[in-house]
Amino acid sequence: MTAPTGRRPLLFLDVDGPLIPFGRTPPEYTTYDMTGVAPDVADHPFLPRLDPAHGGMLSALACDLVWATAWQHEANTYLAPRLGLPELPVVEWLEELDLDGHDERTGLHWKTRALVAYAAGRPFVWVDDEITGTDTAWVAAHHGTHALLHRVDSREGLSPADYAELAAWLRDAPATEAADECG
Ligand SMILES: [Mg+2]
Repeated sequence: MTAPTGRRPLLFLDVDGPLIPFGRTPPEYTTYDMTGVAPDVADHPFLPRLDPAHGGMLSALACDLVWATAWQHEANTYLAPRLGLPELPVVEWLEELDLDGHDERTGLHWKTRALVAYAAGRPFVWVDDEITGTDTAWVAAHHGTHALLHRVDSREGLSPADYAELAAWLRDAPATEAADECG
């Protein structure tokens, strides 16, 4: 499998919630034995909930996937092999992570500014279980082109309905000129 390149929209992908669901009551989840496919990570007991079928569904979307998760580069070590995905680009968080969620000054999620900066005007989708209306409004005001902030229910993870919505948005997303990457 070759990583997609070019000027398709980016898709910023969160892990905990969209790919590794949590929070159901009772916590009944299907688990997947991926022994031998990728190393286990001892301090992440929910990792077996990662459905490897997400890899094919994500690859089918007309976008360039980027990890946007507190896992950072460990997503390529522990998750990509399970999903059958190549090593993907990673958004590196410059500010110290506040995993409790939101910037007290603005109500923004701690990822929001970094994702808009990373996109640098390129259309993008952000898939996360912690997006709020504050993030959506801030992106609309500060990102010069199309963006879809798509909140996923962390109890279920990415569902067929989520994938259908993402695919529809990406189908209609405008192509971006490559000129700004040349020269
Ligand atoms: Mg999350």
